[in-house]
Amino acid sequence: MIIIMDPGASAGEVREVNEEIERLGLRPFINPGVERKVIAVLGEMNVTKAELVEHFSMFPGVARVELISDLWKLASRTYHPADTVVEVNGVPVGGQRVTVIAGPCSVESEDQTLEVARQVKEMGAVLLRGGAFKPRSSPYSFQGLGEEGLQILARAREETGLPVVTEVMDPHEVGLVEQYADVLQIGARNMQNYTLLKACGSSGKAVLLKRGMGSKVKDLLMSAEYILSEGNTNVILCERGITTFEDSTRNTTDINAVPVLKSWTHLPVILDPSHSTGDWKYVGPIARAAIASGADGVMVEVHGDPQRAMSDGMQSLKPEKFRELVESLRSVAQAVGRTL
Ligand code: PEP
Ligand code: MN
Repeated sequence: MIIIMDPGASAGEVREVNEEIERLGLRPFINPGVERKVIAVLGEMNVTKAELVEHFSMFPGVARVELISDLWKLASRTYHPADTVVEVNGVPVGGQRVTVIAGPCSVESEDQTLEVARQVKEMGAVLLRGGAFKPRSSPYSFQGLGEEGLQILARAREETGLPVVTEVMDPHEVGLVEQYADVLQIGARNMQNYTLLKACGSSGKAVLLKRGMGSKVKDLLMSAEYILSEGNTNVILCERGITTFEDSTRNTTDINAVPVLKSWTHLPVILDPSHSTGDWKYVGPIARAAIASGADGVMVEVHGDPQRAMSDGMQSLKPEKFRELVESLRSVAQAVGRTL
């Protein structure tokens, strides 16, 4: 349920509504960013919704009361009609400009990471990606450099000025990863790790939440809600392909998810064509489709020597291919009224 106050509602009227919500054992959550106050009511209700709507409609200063999905509220466009722009060290994600995030799948060494960071920055990336803690299907595959990898990413940021996006896999490691990262990535496999979602929700860092390979768009929004309801409003959603019966590509890009998410939520939505296709040859076309369908950005894996990459070489672009991609994305962005 959300309570929409009159534009001229007084602070006292807003306070009274808040106090009543709390008196009923519920939690008020005020959307601060808009001129007219909208209060989301969170928590389990033991009275019927119709009764609650009627009850709050009678309060002075209340314009109307709306029932919205019980499953996600803070993530919904009804609660927050305007697009959210997540600021990452001064780099906006969402809004008019399309965001390009690029870098290796894994941080393998200082030389590899610094070199690719310099290149993608010069070619138009505004955020650097790279995994230090890697969720690998086999325990015998490269697991990432851990803290050393984080230190390398921090040096790459120092040198290039690019803020860093990196994955955190364990709720106990949020404290460590946030010392180095600008954006905490929650990977597809952890999209429903609720302890991790809550830990990232209490962090001061922005969160990039990837859709699980077997998860619905609705599940993604409920996971985002876990982060938002802990007080962290800086959430970026990422479509990265889902598992279907189709086996011609690693995953199936759910391009529909982009306009659906843009209509259901105010949060920025990006697409990861590297994981959604699993093949560098298809990364360009799907990245362009993402921007054409309204995504706020793309996240692309780039490696100086993909054949020797320690993870995801098949889907990594060589730097010169990345340059071509960014140039082509510029025209697509322009065609849909955006910039890059
Ligand atoms: C990654 O971004 O390198 C990654 C592991 O992605 P996902 O969680 O989408 O598989
Ligand atoms: Mn990868």
